[in-house]
Amino acid sequence: MTALLAARRTALLTAPTLQTLPAAVAANVRRVRAATDARIMAVVKADGYGHGAITVARAAVEAGATWLGVTDLAEAVALREAGFAEPILSWLNPAGVDASVAAAYRVDIAVGSVGELRGLVADADAESPVRVHLHMDTGMSRGGCPLGEWHELLQVARQARGRVEVVGVMGHLPRADEGDPRANEAAVLRMRQARDAVLRAGFGPLLVHLAATAGALTDPWTHFGMVRVGAGLVGIDPSETVALVGASRFTASVVHSAQVPAGTPIGYGGMHVTTRPTNLSIVGVGYADGIPRELAPGASVEICGERHPLVGRVSMDQIVVDTGDAAVERGAAVTVFGPEGGAVPSVQEWARWAGTIPHAIVTGIGSRVQRSIA
Ligand SMILES: *Cc1c(COP(=O)(O)O)cnc(C)c1O
Repeated sequence: MTALLAARRTALLTAPTLQTLPAAVAANVRRVRAATDARIMAVVKADGYGHGAITVARAAVEAGATWLGVTDLAEAVALREAGFAEPILSWLNPAGVDASVAAAYRVDIAVGSVGELRGLVADADAESPVRVHLHMDTGMSRGGCPLGEWHELLQVARQARGRVEVVGVMGHLPRADEGDPRANEAAVLRMRQARDAVLRAGFGPLLVHLAATAGALTDPWTHFGMVRVGAGLVGIDPSETVALVGASRFTASVVHSAQVPAGTPIGYGGMHVTTRPTNLSIVGVGYADGIPRELAPGASVEICGERHPLVGRVSMDQIVVDTGDAAVERGAAVTVFGPEGGAVPSVQEWARWAGTIPHAIVTGIGSRVQRSIA
């Protein structure tokens, strides 16, 4: 009986797990605070970039973030229900966003078109006005109000006074990841124009916000009253100029190991053939768990303190790792990525092997991977 329980315990410990590291989130918030005097909004959309929205939000708020940001009202309501009292902004609201829910849960709504604003006003009631942030398109053509429509947006907002309350103006930087302030100049100018027009229309005080992680870390001119930091919370600096701390560790275990001779084809299609006698470790994670299927040579994991390469195709549930002379036992712990460096690959390395960005790696971890908190 005890042996069975012990085996179960081991199985639990070695199941593929993504562990969130709140201390890393806090360290990253402190790093952003060192770069700005502006308020910090912790953006926890996409379940906190795959790290758990509530866990990340809690760590960020404890470290000094004073706002929370999400893309939709349901995410915002979940944060409220988890007990967060901070102001929350939701900015990707589908047509017919429920104004009464927004008002009841005190969720600020970003509005990027006359149509959106009219819809919200029609649904809002004067008893409980909806707080809105007017969203200017600052150069991305991905949401936000075009300059030519801004004036009309302000007129509609004025007529709707009492039902909506304009509390903020926002934009988004299209090229901040270049880490070069010149790439942000046009957006900053557009943002100032947008803000000034809103003030002239009689609104205020206003919270103005434009920058996300990259702008927050590299360009103080973009900060205005608040920066919206998402990737940075979990250790990703899109400008790759500041070393932040990875906020998760993805571990699994060796489910099978084998010694094979030279000339052994590995995995579907025999895409890799061993060139010498070697040891193989089969690890129980695959593309269903977020291991990218297209990987450049060099993609590796850490086993027993050493880095070893993946060989052959990534399967849905498994990868094959060539450990060379090292015979690894079934059950051995494997680190796919983590913040420690050295033999442990980083999320950034995985992104390079996969030809993608670190954001896509962390948000792509599959739902059957267990979640834990350090
Ligand atoms: C996702 C998002 C952010 C956060 O961006 P990061 O680069 O992840 O910090 C900020 N603002 C908007 C509008 C976003 O969609």
